[in-house]
Amino acid sequence: MPERINHQWRLSARPETRVEKSHFTWTEQPAPEPAPGEVLVRNVYLSIDPTNRIWMREEASYLPPIALGAVMRGGTIGFVEQSCHPNFAPGDIVQGMLGWQDYAVTKGDGLNKLRKGVPLTAYLGVLGHIGITAYFGLLDIGQPKAGETLVVSAAAGAVGSLVGQIGKLLGLRVIGIAGSNEKCTWLTKDLGFDGAINYKTENVRNRLRELCPNGIDIDFENVGGQIMDDVLSLINLRARIVLCGLISTYNETKPQEGPRNIGNLLMKRGRMEGFVVLDYLPRAAEAMQALSGWLQQGKLQYRMEIVQGLENAPDAVNILFDGGNTGKLAVQLCPEPA
Ligand code: NDP
Repeated sequence: MPERINHQWRLSARPETRVEKSHFTWTEQPAPEPAPGEVLVRNVYLSIDPTNRIWMREEASYLPPIALGAVMRGGTIGFVEQSCHPNFAPGDIVQGMLGWQDYAVTKGDGLNKLRKGVPLTAYLGVLGHIGITAYFGLLDIGQPKAGETLVVSAAAGAVGSLVGQIGKLLGLRVIGIAGSNEKCTWLTKDLGFDGAINYKTENVRNRLRELCPNGIDIDFENVGGQIMDDVLSLINLRARIVLCGLISTYNETKPQEGPRNIGNLLMKRGRMEGFVVLDYLPRAAEAMQALSGWLQQGKLQYRMEIVQGLENAPDAVNILFDGGNTGKLAVQLCPEPA
């Protein structure tokens, strides 16, 4: 058998603004051998997420920062190549956090076996952490009631595109904010959003006023900054602001200004609540049941944006910040097993 070569991206410097390849070291060495109680996994897909950028910072967030010199953290889907572990067999498809590398040896902690017969990429998005984020963010934090108005930012991205569709399934009026006309057309023509605003070419506040004649009851906030301020200016009494992400701030060096329209939260007795998907993992089955049901019934659509080659992982992170993705972004490292 030819030697298995393991390429890795190791974090070697902390980016101040955008991610560059020079913040990493590319290493190449023989793949490790599993010891008793361990499995050797070959990674096929690597999830590329805005939070990758947060993990590169020196400050702790909801997870510890990645140590300089360590393999970059990342969600993965792969298959077992060699097993010395009673619960895993060669060929098993597994999901875990095995990082930016071709191969990893693990004792199996946090490694989930995936059901075959479902497109593997679905587990990176709608049937993975993205689906759980969209589902519980909207239902638990957003507390939606049919007839209410929901605004979603980064609406054509992985989380946003699901949030809007779930909102429609729950009987909400849904308005999306996204960065191109093509994305806006996808939202309204294919996904059934009631309206979409191109924040790069339109006046967001004026368009929100037109498209939300009854005000805004739920803001599913993925972006922050000016977009969040525009939404806050139009919230209704007892509005819910679901603080999912603040991508407009992740590449910034200076501390961010707070939302300028915070006064409106007070006047309207609104509630702004942050959440992290990790807290909902114990309830993942609940979300999976609903999401897979809607998928099977053809009521949910999702799109993938796949970049080929582990060597392109650092550049792929910037695609998220440039709005180059529609739907879920991932890197493919090798072909899926037959
Ligand atoms: P997306 O697939 O939505 O990709 C990010 C999108 O954000 C881009 O496509 C881009 O689209 C938009 N964007 C980037 N920069 C800006 C900017 N400055 N202003 C406005 N829009 C911008 O990523 P995800 O769905 O994975 O994540 C979406 C948000 O949800 C992120 O903030 C992320 O951190 C957060 N998140 C939070 C989780 C949690 O547990 N709280 C879990 C998962 C994600 P466009 O063309 O519209 O600009």
